[in-house]
Amino acid sequence: MQKSDHAMDKSTHDDVPDSVLITPTAPIANHTHGGRAKCLQRLVRLDLPVPTTVALSFEAVHAIANGGMPDLAAIVGCFAPDALLCVRPSSEDPDWGGPGAILNIGMNDARYVELCQSLGREAAAALYLRFVQSYAVHVARLDPDAFDDVEDNGPDALSEVLSAYEAETDEPFPQDPAEQLAAVLRSMARAWEGTSARLLRQAKGAPADAGLGLVVQEMVPGYGQGECGSGVLQLVNPGTGMPQITGRYLSQSQGRDALGAGTEALYLERDARGPSLEESAPEAFADLKAHASLMRRRLREEMQVEFVIQSGGVHILDGVRVTRTAQAAVRIAVALAEDGIIPREEAVMRVDPRLSAEVLHRPGVPDAQGRGNGGGIAARPGAATGRLVFTAAEAQASAARGEPCILVRRETSPEDVRGMHAAVGVLTERGGMTSHAAVIGRGLGLPCIVGASNMKFDTRRKQLTAVDGRVFVRGDIITIDGSSGAVLAGQPEMLEAAEDGAFQTLLTWADDQRDIGIRANADTPEDAETARKFNAQGIGLCRTEHMFFEPGRLTVMREMIFAETSKGRAAVLARLLPMQRDDFQALFRIMEGLPVCIRLFDPPLHEFLPTSKTGQRELSEALGIPVSDVTRRVEEMEEYNPMLGLRGVRLGVTVPEIYDMQARAIFEATLDASKEGEPVVPEIMIPLVSAKREVELVKARIDAVALAVKAERGEDFTYRLGVMVETPRAALRAGEISPHTAFLSFGTNDLTQMTYGMSRDDAGRFMSAYVNQGVFPEDPFHVLDTDGVGELLKLGVQRGRAEHPDLTLSICGEHGGNPESIAFCREAGFDYVSCSPFRVPVARLAAAQLAISSQIGDSRKKSAKL
Ligand code: PEP
Ligand code: MG
Repeated sequence: MQKSDHAMDKSTHDDVPDSVLITPTAPIANHTHGGRAKCLQRLVRLDLPVPTTVALSFEAVHAIANGGMPDLAAIVGCFAPDALLCVRPSSEDPDWGGPGAILNIGMNDARYVELCQSLGREAAAALYLRFVQSYAVHVARLDPDAFDDVEDNGPDALSEVLSAYEAETDEPFPQDPAEQLAAVLRSMARAWEGTSARLLRQAKGAPADAGLGLVVQEMVPGYGQGECGSGVLQLVNPGTGMPQITGRYLSQSQGRDALGAGTEALYLERDARGPSLEESAPEAFADLKAHASLMRRRLREEMQVEFVIQSGGVHILDGVRVTRTAQAAVRIAVALAEDGIIPREEAVMRVDPRLSAEVLHRPGVPDAQGRGNGGGIAARPGAATGRLVFTAAEAQASAARGEPCILVRRETSPEDVRGMHAAVGVLTERGGMTSHAAVIGRGLGLPCIVGASNMKFDTRRKQLTAVDGRVFVRGDIITIDGSSGAVLAGQPEMLEAAEDGAFQTLLTWADDQRDIGIRANADTPEDAETARKFNAQGIGLCRTEHMFFEPGRLTVMREMIFAETSKGRAAVLARLLPMQRDDFQALFRIMEGLPVCIRLFDPPLHEFLPTSKTGQRELSEALGIPVSDVTRRVEEMEEYNPMLGLRGVRLGVTVPEIYDMQARAIFEATLDASKEGEPVVPEIMIPLVSAKREVELVKARIDAVALAVKAERGEDFTYRLGVMVETPRAALRAGEISPHTAFLSFGTNDLTQMTYGMSRDDAGRFMSAYVNQGVFPEDPFHVLDTDGVGELLKLGVQRGRAEHPDLTLSICGEHGGNPESIAFCREAGFDYVSCSPFRVPVARLAAAQLAISSQIGDSRKKSAKL
């Protein structure tokens, strides 16, 4: 049982009182009384003018929902005898929501008469009316239509709703304040335990048994003589995070009335758009500003302040964390650290790496509003382009194929959440800013448009009709701009990502903490430029085959494949050599001495064969042989299972001239680029190795090419040769392979494919069934399978390092940019991960957070030992 002075009631828990007056020392914690109660205690500790408040614990509220009731007399006894009260929810994490606040509890006919004297009839009626309306709808659960539709806020409206209440319930409106309070507490406790509230908060990450606390607070009316009213204030712009006093104030009002009041509400700071609180009540405004900055400093967070001014004096009712966009979250964290309020490490920890990607990504479509084919409510900013899908299952299948998709639903329900995870954007016909789709979309950081009722949604026939009658069907590409609410056909040009100084600062701080390298997978000069822009520490994978698919090169490549003799092949390769040399030189130039890891030719030759008649005719012309010969050769070279056929190092062993040419191009480009700038040490990587002997054979030829180039040019250079581990056998035999290589880079795409025996290109067909039935927790091509593939990685690392302690280790599959996979690689002792250039910032931030978390863990362990 609680022994504290503040405990007013018998405890149902060891040391948590059921209800407690909020004082500086009262036993209140987030996990027992919720975030609002804890925040109010902090405000009380700061000596801010907070009205008397009592906090009810999770246990107490749970008991109320089940028919219990704490000692109401003790609670009411904390307040002045004639005080009006309000009750607000206090969940552990404010983002989990809770039932709406109920104000003015204690209003009854007698108080009305008294308040008519002290505050005036209009004010007294407004207070009573608000209470009757919210009690009728939220506590007595009567039809809102009968109570919301009143003409004004005055005495006539009041008698109208009191009569409506009596008509609906056959009872007069309850007059006993204790009875009113009990009914309010009961209805709020039960609302929290209801199924829809539970599903909604679970979708926001709350555990199934999350508790609700309640706070009972003395009302400051916001009505009366002198300057009276209510409002909210925050010190930053919620969209950008830039310093800017935002909010509104409304005279003679309560709660959040000011925000919905339109032009009647005052700006806070002096504003060219209209009158302001600063002008009408300068002292109150100055006090408020001072309170808000004290809260920022001491609560170490940007807070939105809910306040009331009563006869000129300021009262702080509540403080909640300012809701913010990803961009604002970054600015706010950086500014708090720059002002010395939080350490830099904490700023780094405060930004969700996944959401941070938004800061860099295309913020929207220029002028979208005017160009849309339809649209609705812009529920979550950012633009996204993808193929139309109409069910969650289709969205998952599309993601498994690696095809971005926009999920279109009439409205979403919890069953759609998986599909929303898989989609790049969500579009719904129904709903508003707080509908399921909007709430979840914001939670997931997904561009989202809801309530697009000017478009026709036919989910049965899987089509969407635009305002101009144009029909989009499943698979069509559309763009949604969640910043303007516009839906556009195809993929319009996007605004370039904003250069965000704060984000760059945050990433610099992240780099100071990070203990695993981050490189980018980059095949083209554009990719390399992006990699540089995001401060990748080099290129971890350059897939050279993409260079051969370029127009103009494909036919030359085909000529090489069709060459009958080594001499003939050499002649064609001599034409490809300068093209490749230019490719590599461009990359070296851009990377300015940073490591560039070039993977030798990997894909099955099969992929280069002309399958169409036109392609075969073009090739017959280039080669000067009959089309029928080309067709016959194509048939001969076709493979049953090309991904397991003549590809990767197998080409290097059987058609070694291709790798010879590539090695020569790399070395010549190395010498040329080193003359112009920083010395280049190229890394050459052999793909799809499964046996030591393959490495020996290829290494011998590459070394020979290096010697030849050095001799011809009379210049020296160094290079590093490495092996790509993407077959299970290479991982198992890493011990015998590693002495022949400078590095091992794990290609987790192929390694996943071969470990599961599951085609990367076909798995999409059954992946959603597998994930839905819990066969796989996630698609292993997206999230590294740390159990199976991970075990192979660990074996490869241990066996490789045991025989070659200086071996450099990395991964370069798609998993490299995924925060969970980075955690695995860091633990396993990898030197770096390599991911797509746009994921580099996310990876830098995620890696820094892992390093900081482990430092915190280490220091906790140390202090536990002391
Ligand atoms: C891999 O297999 O993981 C890899 C990086 O190579 P690719 O995706 O080109 O097969
Ligand atoms: Mg591969």
